[in-house]
Amino acid sequence: MGGEQLSQAADIGPDEAMVVEPATFGRLIDLLRDRGYRTIGPTLEDGAIVYDEIASAGELPVGLTDRQEAGEYRVLERGDEALFGYNLGPRSWKHYLFPPSLRLFAARRRGAGFEIEPPEPEPTALAFIGIRPCELAAMGVQDRVLRDGAHFDPHYAAARDGAFLVAVQCGQAAATCFCTSMGTGPRATGGYDLAVTELLDEGEHRLLLEARTERGRDVLAALEPTPATSTERARAAAATERAESQMNRTLDTEDLPAILERGVEHPRWAEVAERCLSCANCTMVCPTCFCHTVEDVNDLAGEHTERWRRWDSCFTGGHAYIHGGDFRPSVRGRYRQWLSHKLGTWHEQFGTSGCVGCGRCITWCPVGIDLTEEVAALRTEPAAPQEPLTEEER
Ligand code: SF4
Ligand code: SF4
Repeated sequence: MGGEQLSQAADIGPDEAMVVEPATFGRLIDLLRDRGYRTIGPTLEDGAIVYDEIASAGELPVGLTDRQEAGEYRVLERGDEALFGYNLGPRSWKHYLFPPSLRLFAARRRGAGFEIEPPEPEPTALAFIGIRPCELAAMGVQDRVLRDGAHFDPHYAAARDGAFLVAVQCGQAAATCFCTSMGTGPRATGGYDLAVTELLDEGEHRLLLEARTERGRDVLAALEPTPATSTERARAAAATERAESQMNRTLDTEDLPAILERGVEHPRWAEVAERCLSCANCTMVCPTCFCHTVEDVNDLAGEHTERWRRWDSCFTGGHAYIHGGDFRPSVRGRYRQWLSHKLGTWHEQFGTSGCVGCGRCITWCPVGIDLTEEVAALRTEPAAPQEPLTEEER
């Protein structure tokens, strides 16, 4: 794998805050590319701000913001030159760490047998620019599942450990954010190489940078920053306080796994199933969902075969198909599985919630289903006990 460092960099603790002009940010991208990284950052594509490869600061969505609500997303002009004046788009970093499709291996017939073709060349190490605090937390959740636990994924581990992480502290919250409920934002306190806080008030525009690893410190020094003044540090603190004060949505996590377990027959599951399209959008945009399927693709002559891993979802019919039948045929059962796993049994399985409060599943649900509303409803006692469900309804 290209890039200067293959293993995850050690956290050196809080370093002195430094400041650069916004124009210097382009040099950061150049520096990372010079050091062999493929730089991935926010950019405008098809009417949304998504993460994709960027070669210069000119590709950042400068002066843009977004308006988000349940089932609604719009990019708008801000009227200033902000580099990070928006919240999350539909594409999370899992797109790069756990890609939507990945060839696992290929084989070719050789006489009566076959041989495995050489693996793909090692991919170039990635530099992620613009990771929000809740997204860092989501990486931590996926680390437990895909790198540090029983289900080790070498592709994930290589991409994750080789990546240089540039976090952005949030200076504003979208209407769908609820990271404060999940304890994941709006300020990251570690887990990155460099963190940026955009100072864009009182007629000044500067970037406050904090290094948290040796390699972050090294890159930061090359930008020739100046030490932040006490006023600039106070403005940085005020930026994340502003984001926190804008957070309107909440999710009460108290006893949630037990409440979800007790509420397995709650009538709310049937109500939400009336609206849910089982389209799987919520799981595709979620930064922690990892369900996938494996497909073998053979040529017609039977000479060549490939095995691919592709994203799947607990909302698709095929995902629960085993041994001649689908054990989760109803939308009610699929929505319940998703929410109960994400917020309940994930704790038992992986020692943490599967939700970081990013709000993507709310914004990108085509019918505006909001898990914070669903949890609030599931917390209420049903007015009357539900009739026993048939197998099909489960
Ligand atoms: S469940 Fe929704 S809010 Fe929670 S991490 Fe996934 S997409 Fe974000
Ligand atoms: S909750 Fe919304 S996004 Fe998720 S499957 Fe149902 S309709 Fe699709």
